[in-house]
Amino acid sequence: MKTVFANSAWVNAAERLILRGGGWRSVRLRVRYGLIVHPAQGPVLVDTGYTAEALTGERRGRMLRLYGALLKPKLNAAEQVLPVLKHFGLSPNDIRTVIVTHFHADHISGLSLFPKARFVASDAAWARVKARTPRQNWRHGVFTELFPADFDARLDGLSSRPHVEARDGVPGGADLFGDGSVIAVDLPGHADGQFGLLFTGLERPLLYAVDVQWLLTALTEKRTPGFPATLIAEDAASIEPTSAMLRRFIAAGGEVMLCHDPAPAAYDLALSDPEAT
Ligand SMILES: [Zn+2]
Repeated sequence: MKTVFANSAWVNAAERLILRGGGWRSVRLRVRYGLIVHPAQGPVLVDTGYTAEALTGERRGRMLRLYGALLKPKLNAAEQVLPVLKHFGLSPNDIRTVIVTHFHADHISGLSLFPKARFVASDAAWARVKARTPRQNWRHGVFTELFPADFDARLDGLSSRPHVEARDGVPGGADLFGDGSVIAVDLPGHADGQFGLLFTGLERPLLYAVDVQWLLTALTEKRTPGFPATLIAEDAASIEPTSAMLRRFIAAGGEVMLCHDPAPAAYDLALSDPEAT
């Protein structure tokens, strides 16, 4: 099963905001998303990264415009989702499944580009999004204008998938394709309903742990940032237990990859020279 990750955009953040004991220097974070080609399911996206819809889209509400103005993400043209699909000879209509790890803008902004796709996401978190007012959703970092109008009808909730038990330091979760190859692992803390993906068929099992931390160092060296990072977390008290679970996975021989860590990772596509953008 092919597994690659691409970098949709760069976002600058002061190190001390994302790493306990960090300095004032600015860190250039990536915004990854993934493409897996499953032997039976075909090409499957893991989130969409940042796309123009989140930054210049006409449908953006006032709060999403403000959010973009504050974070100032810089799109990485070469590794935007459509050019990356084209690189692999794929068109948007070839994408029948998008796994949505959580509902933050940098993960869902391109969902409308895939009219034939069904969405694998937390149905429990989606039910809460639907029950909230727009203002309540903003406080959870969710901008509902980025969802396709028919998201609800195209949602395949995680709760319908069979559960695989944890063992020997390897976490359990929902078996997404019924063959044990990709397991959705709950990662409470950062965002409502966030889950990561455990790829079991690789030489060394890989857990794409999305936004548990921004930096791998924060995870491995137990340098979880405090305030104000805790302020924007969905459930700040769960970040440390979730991080500890990932450290146990690493100790058991697993590999962890994050969405935003700036260092090149083994599964990064690297179509563009990061220094040239
Ligand atoms: Zn997030």
